[in-house]
Amino acid sequence: MPARRIRFDEEDRFGAFLWKRDEAPTGEGRLSGIPVAVKDNISTRGIPTTCGSRILEGYIPPYDAFVVDRLIAEGAAVVGKTNMDEFGMGTTTENSAYGPTRNPHDEGRVPGGSSGGSAAAIASGMVRMALGTDTGGSIRCPAAFCGIVGLKPTYGRVSRYGLVAYANSLEQIGPMGRTVADVSLLMEAISGYDARDSTAADRAYLHTPQQEIRGLRVGVPEEFFGSGVDPAVAALVWKAIERLEECGAEIITCTMPSMAYALAAYYVTCMSEASSNLARFDGVRYGPPCDVRSSWHDAFQERRKDGFGPEVRRRILLGTFALSSGYYGRYYAKAQAARANVRADFARLFADVDVLAGPTMPTIAFRFSEKSDPLSMYLSDILTVPANLAGVPAISVPCGTVRGMPVGLQITGRHFEDERVVDTAYVYEQVAA
Ligand code: GLN
Repeated sequence: MPARRIRFDEEDRFGAFLWKRDEAPTGEGRLSGIPVAVKDNISTRGIPTTCGSRILEGYIPPYDAFVVDRLIAEGAAVVGKTNMDEFGMGTTTENSAYGPTRNPHDEGRVPGGSSGGSAAAIASGMVRMALGTDTGGSIRCPAAFCGIVGLKPTYGRVSRYGLVAYANSLEQIGPMGRTVADVSLLMEAISGYDARDSTAADRAYLHTPQQEIRGLRVGVPEEFFGSGVDPAVAALVWKAIERLEECGAEIITCTMPSMAYALAAYYVTCMSEASSNLARFDGVRYGPPCDVRSSWHDAFQERRKDGFGPEVRRRILLGTFALSSGYYGRYYAKAQAARANVRADFARLFADVDVLAGPTMPTIAFRFSEKSDPLSMYLSDILTVPANLAGVPAISVPCGTVRGMPVGLQITGRHFEDERVVDTAYVYEQVAA
C-alpha cells in the first residue's frame, strides 16, 4: 500500500503524521488488529523515512528496522510515520523541517518532543499505540505533555537496527500508548535479541503488569524537585507519590548530587556523537536539489547548509568542537567522567531503593515559541537525561493536570528491571483512575 504525504488535513488536525497509508492489520499475533504509528527516524521498507529533515527528503529505505519487522510479525499494521524534531534534536517537535505538531490538549502549545507526532497521534485517538525514540527524554517528555504513557527501556533491551542514529550510546526505541497495559504489550512485541545490533542484550521482556507493590521502596531524590520545577507540577507529583504510599510502598527521600552535572554531560555527549553520526549525510542521493558545480568541498558544504536545520547545524558544530584535538580532554572526556558519576549515583541509590519517582518534566507543555533560546530549552530536559546517561529504564505515566494541561509522573528503575517500572506505573494508574 503506497504511503501518502499528509500535513494538517481533516483526518490529522494536529499534524501528527508526515506519511500515512491505508493498511489493514491482517496478521496473527500479540498485536493482531492494532494500527501502530512509527516515528520517522525508524526505517520502514517502501515508506519514506526522513527524520524530520530535508537532507533525507526522498529517501525510501530498502529494509525494515528490527522493531518494524516485529510489529508486522505480531500482526500489527504500520499505518504511518510520525513527525519529530529533526533527527530527534529538540523538546517540542518545533524543529521539524515539515512544520510543527500541535498538542491535542491545547493547539497553542507544543506536544513535547522529539517524539511529538507519536504522542499527538495517540492523544488525539488516531492510533492506539506508537513507537518513539528516547535519547534524552524524547519518549517521556511528549508522553507527559500529551497525557499518555511512554517507556524508555533499559539500554540494549530493544534493537536499534534500522534506527537512524543521533547519539547511539544514549538512545533507545520504546513503546507509547494510552495505558500502561498497552505500553507493556507493545514492549513485549519489540524487545529481544538481535545479532545486527551489537549492543542488543538477550533479555526479552515478557510480562503482564502486576497489581502488587506492597513493600516496594520508592526513592525520591530532592534534586527531582529542585529549582525550575513549577510548584503546581511538584505538588501534583507529590500527591501521586503519596498514592503509591497508600498502596503499600515505602517512600524514602534521598539525594542525587550528580544531577548538577547531568545536563552538561548529556549535551556534550549527544552533540559529539551527533557530529560523527551525521557526517554521512552528503545530500548527493537525497535532499534538496542543489546545482553547485564547483568543487566537491563547496558542494558538500552547500548541501549540508541547506539540508540541515539551524538546531542540527548548531549541534554538529558544537559537537565537532568538543571532539577536536586540544579540546577533547576539556569537554568530551570530562562529560564521560560526569556520566560515570551519574551511573555511580544510580547504583548507590538502587542499593537502598527499588525505584525512583519524580516529575517527568519540570513544567507543563510550553506555548509555541515560548522558549526561544536554546539553553532554556535544554534546561527543560534536566529530569529525563539522567536515565539515558546511565542506561536505566524510565516510564512516564499521567498523574493529573495543571491549568488544564497533563503532567507526568516518572518512575525510574534498575537496569533490566523494566518490569518493575511498568508495575509501579500500572498500580498508580489503577488507583488514580
Ligand atoms: N530534548 C533532548 C535533545 O534535544 C532529547 C531528545 C531525544 O531524546 N531525542 O537532545
